[in-house]
Amino acid sequence: MAEKEIQPCDIMAVGAHPDDVEHCIGGSLIKWARAGKRILILHMTGGEKGTHGSQSLRREEAEAAAEALGCDVAFLDFPDTEIRFTTESRNRFIREVRKYRPRVILSQYHDFPRMHPDHEQTGLIVKNAFRPARFKAIETPPYPPHWVESIFWYLIPLTMKPSFVVDVSDVMDEWHRAAECYASQLGNIPNYYQRLIRLKQHAGWLIGVEHGEAFLSDAPINATDSDILSFSPRPEFEGFTPGLPRS
Ligand SMILES: [Zn+2]
Repeated sequence: MAEKEIQPCDIMAVGAHPDDVEHCIGGSLIKWARAGKRILILHMTGGEKGTHGSQSLRREEAEAAAEALGCDVAFLDFPDTEIRFTTESRNRFIREVRKYRPRVILSQYHDFPRMHPDHEQTGLIVKNAFRPARFKAIETPPYPPHWVESIFWYLIPLTMKPSFVVDVSDVMDEWHRAAECYASQLGNIPNYYQRLIRLKQHAGWLIGVEHGEAFLSDAPINATDSDILSFSPRPEFEGFTPGLPRS
């Protein structure tokens, strides 16, 4: 994309490898894209060291998956398996933040035991870029400082309580179609697809729906303008009138 054509995005969804974002939170992205949000998926690497699929194939898969989700896509070209949080890598990421000017960043969590180290390091880079992206002292010409409003973490340990869960039950067919763009991964990693589904079932169970995607905020969420009080009832309470015996 030519530099002059770059539009600010509402949401920047960051993942270490092509497929991380789409498989973990693709359902939420479908819903937010449908609601009119401009979303950029930023892959930190091309996944070139993965056991399955070449870099060119994974890039093609990433482009197809982003299109299926209704998102734009970009690659940062950090070396696969060697992402490291350093001042230099933080500044490279800050440059991308200032280029795409997101309101919200979604990133893999930075402390998930036994996960791929690239996921942890990606989270650390994002965490440490959040505030300095505003600092004038860090220069990233031609892009000026930018204030990101929020970070929400995905791929959080199951032992942590999410701050919110997005009900994606009604977009699972569309999610399947986007997820299947990554045939090099889904077709070759044993039980990978089943594990993804189990994660969505677990998150969904937390809010009483079939499938969900969990997010963590490490700061309180400003709900002033949201419709948080017009919440969806948990299905098990549907038809239940408090005070009357259930039939
Ligand atoms: Zn990954």
